[in-house]
Amino acid sequence: MAKLKVALYWAASCGGCEIATLQIGEKILKLAEAADIVFWPVAVDVKYADVGKMPDKSIDACLFNGAIRTSENEHIAKLLRAKSKLMIAYGSCAYEGCIPGLANFYNRQMIFNRAYVETPSTDNPKKIYPQMRVKVPEGELEIPEFYDTVKTLAQTVDVDYFVPGCPPEEKSTWLALEALIEGKLPPKGTVISPSTKAVCDECPRKKEEKKIKKFYRPYEIIPEPEKCLLEQGLLCYGIATRGGCGALCPQANMPCTGCYGPVEGVIDQGAHFLSALSSIIDSNDPEEIQKIVNDIPDPAGTFYRYSLPASLLRRARIK
Ligand code: SF4
Ligand code: SF4
Repeated sequence: MAKLKVALYWAASCGGCEIATLQIGEKILKLAEAADIVFWPVAVDVKYADVGKMPDKSIDACLFNGAIRTSENEHIAKLLRAKSKLMIAYGSCAYEGCIPGLANFYNRQMIFNRAYVETPSTDNPKKIYPQMRVKVPEGELEIPEFYDTVKTLAQTVDVDYFVPGCPPEEKSTWLALEALIEGKLPPKGTVISPSTKAVCDECPRKKEEKKIKKFYRPYEIIPEPEKCLLEQGLLCYGIATRGGCGALCPQANMPCTGCYGPVEGVIDQGAHFLSALSSIIDSNDPEEIQKIVNDIPDPAGTFYRYSLPASLLRRARIK
């Protein structure tokens, strides 16, 4: 039987997803038996031009990690979409925008000002910013355009499957790869994860009545080891997050921050968590409620840490 052809690509992301693919351990031998990797810039020396020469739909599946931040990200997403039968948004950045997507609270000029002028370690009195085209004696240099707005992969090209996680856990990665190898892929559009329920459903901590009088940051308290973290005032996102990771963070005494994205059927993960929290604040007095809510650090970044580009908000409006 002919081997499958697989491509992997890293757009606007931290690189964690590239490492996460290797978490499948010895199962990589099964993958190697079934598939050849035809493009993987981090590990295999294949140039963009080589991909351009591949016939359309000649790659069986592309695992694309990273959000769409630049014109280069967009160009390669469109190129790999044309060359691949299946496009898989692998990891939270490709699926929802994730941490790079928090830049949507700003615009390009604000980001450039911060990065190239305002940072204490930067000495740039002439305020020189990166230029897309620069003439040098040898000719014209061109770098990709840095867009104002970070987009998800599905806001850029048609996506067949989504693998959640920052980064995806081994079980989720193998679920997708095994389905691909065995030709048993779920319906198009499926979020491939071992669970469709919430992280709370996988969490072994004892859940009782949730009534919150005060929120704490993780460094402020040592939580009881068996009691639900949210009930102890820690902003644990398990209630509004798709399971599949095995509730890794709460089991390590850290609140879930929401990296597996929304639970099945929910469009806006941040709004879902906000609505869940508002129902468990233990007060009817507006002043006290305001005081309790004021303890939530960086609310926009907390509720939309992984999902701002994919949310109903998508980005901040900046005049
Ligand atoms: S809120 Fe967090 S600690 Fe509580 S049950 Fe859910 S995942 Fe576990
Ligand atoms: S517990 Fe939450 S933040 Fe931690 S790995 Fe699971 S989904 Fe991600």
